[in-house]
This record gives sequence, structure tokens and C-alpha cells, in this order.
Amino acid sequence: MSVQAPKDTPVWVNEHRCKACNICVSYCPAGVLAMRDDKNAVLGQMIEVVHPSSCIGCGECEVHCPDFAIMVATREEFKFAKLTPEAKQRAEAVKQNKYKKVGV
Ligand code: SF4
Ligand code: SF4
Repeated sequence: MSVQAPKDTPVWVNEHRCKACNICVSYCPAGVLAMRDDKNAVLGQMIEVVHPSSCIGCGECEVHCPDFAIMVATREEFKFAKLTPEAKQRAEAVKQNKYKKVGV
């Protein structure tokens, strides 16, 4: 599926499609994604792109989302970050925090 990326955006979400399953967060190696509490969402949570500048453009989130709710820019559209030790640590911390944001 090819969708034009919003300007200067590595990864973005269609919240109407997201069912808050956490799959994308569990696959992200860079701690870019986390769930937020959202009382308007059916399951009480919603995906959020919390650290866009750390996105390495690996595409794991987009490939594994069962609802086509998350999209990643192409390398022509965006210059992605490199995976840093900090980003890896944040990814682990987010997973241990039940896929929710941590203050790292
Ligand atoms: S994998 Fe898709 S549906 Fe699941 S939380 Fe992520 S964006 Fe939402
Ligand atoms: S493309 Fe990779 S690094 Fe970027 S948000 Fe998706 S899983 Fe994380």
C-alpha cells in the first residue's frame, strides 16, 4: 500500500483504524511508539508516536499492524535516524511499562 507521507513526518497513525492492540509498540526497536490513555477510544487506549525523531524507518510497525493503521514514510520522503543505545533502552522500558510512555 502506498500512501503519501505528511511533510517531515517519519511515521503516522490513522486513529480511526487503530484498535490499541500494542503490536506495533512491541515490534518497534527504537521506542518511537507508546499507548496513551484515551477515554474516547473503544478500548480506553490509543497509539501515539511519542519519539518521531528516533524512527529508523524499519517499517516493522506498518508491516505488523493488522488494521493498516500505521504508516511509515519511504527513504525518499524522509531521512530517518540511526538506532542509538538510548532508543533501544527506551524501547525496552516502554515494553516493560505495559507499552506505555516512560520518562526516558
Ligand atoms: S498495531 Fe495497529 S491497531 Fe495495533 S496498536 Fe499499533 S497502530 Fe493500533
Ligand atoms: S518504522 Fe520502525 S522505528 Fe519507526 S516507528 Fe515503525 S517500528 Fe519504530
